[in-house]
Amino acid sequence: MTENIRVKSKVILLGDGAVGKTSLIRRYVLDQFRDEYIQTIGTKVTKKEIKVTAANHQIIDTTMMIWDIMGQRDYYKEHILQFNKYRPQTKYYLGSRGAMIICDVTRKTTLQNLPLWVNSIFEEVGPVPLVFLANKSDLTDQHQYTVEDLASFARQHNSPTFLTSAKTGENVDIAFYKLGESMVNAILKDPSRC
Ligand code: GDP
Ligand code: MG
Repeated sequence: MTENIRVKSKVILLGDGAVGKTSLIRRYVLDQFRDEYIQTIGTKVTKKEIKVTAANHQIIDTTMMIWDIMGQRDYYKEHILQFNKYRPQTKYYLGSRGAMIICDVTRKTTLQNLPLWVNSIFEEVGPVPLVFLANKSDLTDQHQYTVEDLASFARQHNSPTFLTSAKTGENVDIAFYKLGESMVNAILKDPSRC
């Protein structure tokens, strides 16, 4: 008889202000969407339980502790050197096993700023698994770049890319699942990090 393996891991969402981080969590966990923009104040942690099929075919009960970012300013409006002023504090990153890196498909600057977000997490917690999202796909007449533009950046990190919509739910479940899967496989490879 094989023992049921449980994994609990912290996930963080990173990206410029208003790309849809809070909305994606809301869609994923509650299956709801709101049009008004309520800037996140403080840090909110939401729990989601999923079953992940690991690379070794084991089914792993996985608890994702999903951390929503604290109210960072829309730093992209500022000079690039201001990044440190507006990025989340170190304690937000601490202990995370994976991250969703999110940009808004209707604003190209949010794509251009992704390297800053990736560098910021790697600096704090090392090369954890990542998933890249171009969110707001439902705003079809406002796209400023394609998912392929995002994919060419994500390939440098061997990470999957999804065009998502927190509004319609497109690709939201699969994006979180893929992150869960990568995190579980990374943890099983190196259980000391559990
Ligand atoms: P955050 O600052 O990254 O947490 O962004 P929010 O989740 O608060 O979203 C910012 C704004 O974009 C809000 O008005 C949301 O309703 C809107 N929004 C978020 N995701 C989507 C989406 O997929 N489609 C559309 N049309 N609007 C979205
Ligand atoms: Mg938010």
